[in-house]
Amino acid sequence: MRSRDLWALCCLCGLVLSGCAHAEDEPSGAEPSRTQDLQGTTTPAEPRAQSTLPVPDPTPEPPEPTRASDPSWDPASIHVLVNRQNPLDPVDYTPDDLVELEVRTTVGGPLYLREESAQALDEMFSEAADQGVVLAVTSAYRSFDGQARVYSDRHQHLGTEATDEFAARPGYSEHQTGLAVDVISIENPECIHGDCFDRTPEFAWVQENSAGYGFVIRYPEGAEHITGFGYEPWHLRYVGPETAAEVAKEDLTLEEYWDQPAAPDYDEPEPDLDLLRGERAGAQHQGVVTWED
Ligand SMILES: [Zn+2]
Repeated sequence: MRSRDLWALCCLCGLVLSGCAHAEDEPSGAEPSRTQDLQGTTTPAEPRAQSTLPVPDPTPEPPEPTRASDPSWDPASIHVLVNRQNPLDPVDYTPDDLVELEVRTTVGGPLYLREESAQALDEMFSEAADQGVVLAVTSAYRSFDGQARVYSDRHQHLGTEATDEFAARPGYSEHQTGLAVDVISIENPECIHGDCFDRTPEFAWVQENSAGYGFVIRYPEGAEHITGFGYEPWHLRYVGPETAAEVAKEDLTLEEYWDQPAAPDYDEPEPDLDLLRGERAGAQHQGVVTWED
């Protein structure tokens, strides 16, 4: 009986050892490995990252810097771009909301701006007056006919090159939008023609405060190669307070602010004289125009 006990003990140890060996071959858990098929054969593992993980988005581009406005070619927009490369369209555009200015002017007859810009100008002049600064307007809205008359008169005597220096061709003047105004200092009569307006206290006030009312100094010094106009400290263009604040803060022309090409020259070397002297020639020039930008 002793030998049979020994035999049974040996069988038991064999089973235990066999079970241990089997346990090392099988992974723990009842589910088969994802790399084994139902027949137990092993298939190559697929790259997990490509098949199961979401593809990360490419590094996002930094957002475009936002600006208060974009340029418009709608003549009725307060952000319409008008320069030697961008005439009004239609070229004889007339605003439909012109109102007579109630501020001080240097001309005998009425002057007009579009309603929004006229109201802003009125508020600006009132605030200036409250601070002891007296401003006056010498030119505001000009019609296509009025600009054609001025240009044609000059052109007959001076020719194209000289006339282009002093007068915008009709359809190319910001004054035709009803959003541009020429401001002077009547307290300094020696500057009434604008030549030294930028050395007056009135100009200093305008430079400091006009953006808050939506006006920019449209033709700054040293930007003729961009705007097509020499320095005109008196010429203000209404674009709204948000845009004007950004333009003034960064000391830009509208062309630069709106990321538009420079406009130093007209495409056509000569103006359309038939247009100037044709049916438009009979137009009556209204008011006194000191500058014809
Ligand atoms: Zn002007």
